[in-house]
Amino acid sequence: MKVRVDQDKCIGCGLCTSVAENVFSFNDDGKAQASNVAPDDEEAVESAISSCPVEAISKE
Ligand code: SF4
Repeated sequence: MKVRVDQDKCIGCGLCTSVAENVFSFNDDGKAQASNVAPDDEEAVESAISSCPVEAISKE
């Protein structure tokens, strides 16, 4: 699975970076960015996708 964060939508709330810290991190703009998703992290990523308040995370 691969995911991306829409930089225009992300408000930097930090939810995804705490729910799936292996995948999401903050970039220099204070927005979330995603790395490749290992199989063990997929459940946490699905949770982050459905919980993001501005629906900025999408699967590629
Ligand atoms: S949960 Fe959504 S809005 Fe919050 S930091 Fe992650 S991508 Fe950005």
